[in-house]
Amino acid sequence: MSTLVSTALVDQVRAAVASVDDPEYPDVSIADLGLVESIDVEAGPDGPVAVVGLIPTFSGCPALDMIATDVERAVTALTDVHECDVRWLPGPVWSTDRLTGTARATLADDYTVVLRRKDGGLRCPVCGSDDVDVQSQAGPTRCRAVAWCAACRNPVEVMR
Ligand SMILES: [Zn+2]
Repeated sequence: MSTLVSTALVDQVRAAVASVDDPEYPDVSIADLGLVESIDVEAGPDGPVAVVGLIPTFSGCPALDMIATDVERAVTALTDVHECDVRWLPGPVWSTDRLTGTARATLADDYTVVLRRKDGGLRCPVCGSDDVDVQSQAGPTRCRAVAWCAACRNPVEVMR
C-alpha cells in the first residue's frame, strides 16, 4: 500500500466517521461533538484496517455501543477498508470545549441543550438568560441533566 493511497483512504475514513450522528442528537455528527480523537489506517493481513480512536462524552453513557456500531458500519462500507477497529480512548477527557460551532448551534436551536460555560455557569439557549438552575440530576440519559430557565420558563437540558 503506497503512502498516497493510504492518505486518500484516511480522508475517506474521516468522512465516513463524520457522517455518523450521535444517537441522542440525530442532526449532530460525532465529529462535531468532538468525539473523534484519532483516525489511522493500518495494513492488515487481509487488507487495510481503519483504527478509529474516540473519546466518550460520559463513561457510563449507553449510547457508546451504538456509536461504535454505527462507526464500524459506516467505515466498513468503504470498499477499500477491510476492517474497522473502534477504540474508546481513556483520554483526553471530553469537555464541551471540544464541540464545534456547528454542534453548539444545533444543540441550542434544535434540542435546547445548554452548555456549561468554563466558569461553571449556565446560559439558557432559548432566551439567553443566565438564570438557569439544574433541577434534578436525573435527565433523559446519564449524559444529560434537566434544568429550568427562570426567565423564559423553558426546560433545558444540560450536557455534562
Ligand atoms: Zn430562558
